[in-house]
Amino acid sequence: MSRSRHIAPLALAAAALLLAGCALVSVSQREEIQMGRDYSSQLNEELPLVDDDAIRGYVDRVGTDIASRTDRPDLPYEFQVVNTDVVNAFAVPGGFIYMNRGLLEASENMSEVAGVLAHEVAHVVARHSAEQMERARSAGLALGVGSILLGEPRGAARAGIGIGANLYFARYSRAQESEADSLAVGYLVRSGWDPDGLVRFFETLQEMRERRPNALEALFTSHPLTEDRVEHVRRIIDRLPADSLRGLRTSSGEYRTMKEALERLPPPPEEYRVEGDRE
Ligand SMILES: [Zn+2]
Repeated sequence: MSRSRHIAPLALAAAALLLAGCALVSVSQREEIQMGRDYSSQLNEELPLVDDDAIRGYVDRVGTDIASRTDRPDLPYEFQVVNTDVVNAFAVPGGFIYMNRGLLEASENMSEVAGVLAHEVAHVVARHSAEQMERARSAGLALGVGSILLGEPRGAARAGIGIGANLYFARYSRAQESEADSLAVGYLVRSGWDPDGLVRFFETLQEMRERRPNALEALFTSHPLTEDRVEHVRRIIDRLPADSLRGLRTSSGEYRTMKEALERLPPPPEEYRVEGDRE
């Protein structure tokens, strides 16, 4: 089964997005929310979502709490868990954030998950995701879920949900990535999570890289995990007053309950599994 056949048109779309960068038109907050709501309701219909309070409910509670401590606390934040082994997360403008089951399973404690949630929330707060969507729109790219993200071809391309979504929403610049990391550290401290979780998650991913390259492909495409990037986050944390880091949580009882619930969950639908991951 050829993955590259599916990726070529996506790469073209990405190139179009980059070219369209200069034609950026600003979006009002109302438009941003409307755009995000429309798109996320299509995603919610198309994607297999995990509807389990111990999993989705917990992610939503932690994500909503983090979002409430940002500079844009009033967006209609919503956090969903997608039932796929692909390790990834992405943000839709307006505050609609998707985290894949595979990411939760790859994590080792809740501060790692909180780190990724805070990073995606930061893309929304800093309007990176709105800019991406506006860019796609001014390039005349159809934003229908059916068109690129989840329509034809099925199979590998659908399992690569992270890949399609990344091309639309997560092709952020290095500057945007590093801004999202900096903001995330602040949000984590404010919401009582150890910001080291973000660094530890990077390390967890690096360890997984050789074992599960297919599961990580989409994530590494949108979030190149360079030494620079990890060092940058470490430096931000090191500059924080020691006081502010005291007593921050790294995990929780609910996290362990969530991991147990994930173990009991049947495998994702076949086209959302990663080749070689589940025998
Ligand atoms: Zn990012």
